[in-house]
Amino acid sequence: MSLGILNGTVVTASDRYDADLRIENGRIAAVGKGVAESCDQRLDASGLLVLPGGIDAHTHFALPFGGTVSADDFETGTRAALFGGTTTCIDFAVQAKGQTLRAGIDAWFAKAEGKVCCDFAFHMIMGDVNAQSLDDMQSVMDAGITSFKLFTAYPGVFLSTDGEIFQALQRAERIGALIQMHAENGSVIDVLVKQAIEAGKTAPVHHALTRPSIAEGEATHRAIALAEMAGAPLYIVHMTTAEAADAVAAARARGLRVYGETCPQYLFLSHDNYLEPGFEGAKYVMSPPLRPKPHGERLWRALQADEISVVGTDHCPFRMKDQKVLGRDSFAKIPNGAPGVENRIQLLYHGGVAAKRFDVHRFVDLTATAPAKIFGLFPRKGTVAVGSDADLVLFDPNGSYTISAKTHHMNVDYNPYEGLVVQGKIVKVLARGELVVDGDRWLGRAGRGEFLKCGPFGLA
Ligand SMILES: [Zn+2]
Repeated sequence: MSLGILNGTVVTASDRYDADLRIENGRIAAVGKGVAESCDQRLDASGLLVLPGGIDAHTHFALPFGGTVSADDFETGTRAALFGGTTTCIDFAVQAKGQTLRAGIDAWFAKAEGKVCCDFAFHMIMGDVNAQSLDDMQSVMDAGITSFKLFTAYPGVFLSTDGEIFQALQRAERIGALIQMHAENGSVIDVLVKQAIEAGKTAPVHHALTRPSIAEGEATHRAIALAEMAGAPLYIVHMTTAEAADAVAAARARGLRVYGETCPQYLFLSHDNYLEPGFEGAKYVMSPPLRPKPHGERLWRALQADEISVVGTDHCPFRMKDQKVLGRDSFAKIPNGAPGVENRIQLLYHGGVAAKRFDVHRFVDLTATAPAKIFGLFPRKGTVAVGSDADLVLFDPNGSYTISAKTHHMNVDYNPYEGLVVQGKIVKVLARGELVVDGDRWLGRAGRGEFLKCGPFGLA
């Protein structure tokens, strides 16, 4: 069986050209004029861009949090991803304190089993840095999980001390792993949260007010310093502040291997959303929180200047009607997280390319190529080239699309971008050569997604 994509304009992080594609066995077999003429099946892509499928390097499907579980499981979450042009998700397997890394991985494979619609990989959250878990990092690497996330936040749950972080960075550098950091000063935040609750300040806005931007800036700076002392590369997840962007920009200007990630919510939404009436602000309770608007403008500039390398989503939705309401009496009990996996590509094209902040190649880099390279999936994923998987988005740059919870495919009863009309429209999505999304129609199936083994850092 061969499939041809005819008359489209191929766009990658570096190139743009008119060409046909010939797809065999889920991979791109040939690129060029005329290569698709003899294919068994043919799709016409006239007037459309042929983009590499997106890679969302930051999702949390079926994540237990605060007495509930994130609303999208590996089936609904990865189906929504495909509708939004994302053909690979990298989720976080969690090692809880007292557990082995292996037990965390096994638990996440069990959640994914039979459900995943798109290809997927895992990062490993290290909740317990000790001699055993440091030694076990090598076997996790051998299993194809090559990035390890640590926290300067959540004391008693996920927080690692500076010494523990330093040891993990040293080990990572030795074995070719990449350390990811959730950078917020959790010890200070916990004090502020306690003080706010004692003062009777329980509304959703206080979630943001107890997590000041400097708590993120300080922890980002500290994590970079620890990585520099260890001689190790570092990836900062979900950056939200000017202070963090400045710290990463300064590190990169000095030649350090530091990579930043931000998410659409920090670019399109702001602290003002917490001031929506009633309990509506709970929709935006996530960590780190939304920031005042100047921070978002700084993040856009960081994307333009390649100071921030990747846009992921931190997709971790909770329904308003039965999950967010757990925190009606106290912001500290609102499950942290928001939906986003379906809207990332649409939003970045709209706010980046259509708004003339950067070109379509930078957009492809931020949403597909850079995460593929950083996490060891390139060139199988993240580009359109002979030999790469045929993960493709047929995209109409002249179309438009209205984002709404009424039509989205995420298993959550609101959308943070409700009613936003974005420039550009995802027309068709192929995953390993299979047409899985055709307009509004779902043609894929649960369980078709394959686990991807990531390569070591820096060998792409
Ligand atoms: Zn996250």
